[in-house]
Amino acid sequence: MSTRTLPLDDKLYSYVQGVSLREPPAFRRCRIETAELPMSNMQIAPEQGQFLHFQLQLLGAKRAIELGSFTGYSGLWIASALPPGGCMIACDINKEWTSRARHYWEEAGVMDRIEVRIGPAVDTLDEILRSESTKPFDFAFIDADKSMYDDYYERCLELVRPGGVIAVDNVLWNGKVANGAENDPDTSAIRALNEKLHNDDRIDMTLVPIGDGVTLCRKR
Ligand code: SAM
Ligand code: CA
Repeated sequence: MSTRTLPLDDKLYSYVQGVSLREPPAFRRCRIETAELPMSNMQIAPEQGQFLHFQLQLLGAKRAIELGSFTGYSGLWIASALPPGGCMIACDINKEWTSRARHYWEEAGVMDRIEVRIGPAVDTLDEILRSESTKPFDFAFIDADKSMYDDYYERCLELVRPGGVIAVDNVLWNGKVANGAENDPDTSAIRALNEKLHNDDRIDMTLVPIGDGVTLCRKR
């Protein structure tokens, strides 16, 4: 027994996956094939994907937005939690990675509920905010460039309905946020946002130490 979160050594991590992870074949293929790419460490951990999927199911989410899709792994978990007729807007600046993502989304049978928007995510968010026909979102996943996180958060907070959730990824940044000697722009941006979220009375929040850390913010 323990009064703090257990560290997971390889044996325990593998046990947790063995008794918890339900990863469909197309998802696994996306994860394994992406692991061959030089930037593979950008994708979320499988247990985190399943955790986000579960959150969307609890929310009864129909509309989601993802900032930073890469090769599609997190998008698979998000879009597959939406009902038929649901919609996930997938934002990324990289056409090559999103074309790989489309391949897995098609294989998993979720492409019918995904709308890809190529371009800087902040511009896409501003376009959506300006559009009069925009309906509120139930869920937002922030996982694009870290220096823009605060801009993404403020826009997502406008777009998400009260009771909706914004999930902010990589809030532990491989532990660098807790090391005062680390002050590069990405670490500083994440650290500042972590402090802001903790004190933000527009939301209920909790930082979950899963994957590289994800903060769930529920709009009040
Ligand atoms: N969520 C993905 C997953 O778990 O598989 C990983 C996303 S990866 C950490 C970050 C992504 O953000 C990259 O695909 C990158 O092309 C994209 N990106 C970087 N800067 C961006 C920007 N300004 N606007 C939109 N996307 C951006
Ligand atoms: Ca991430």
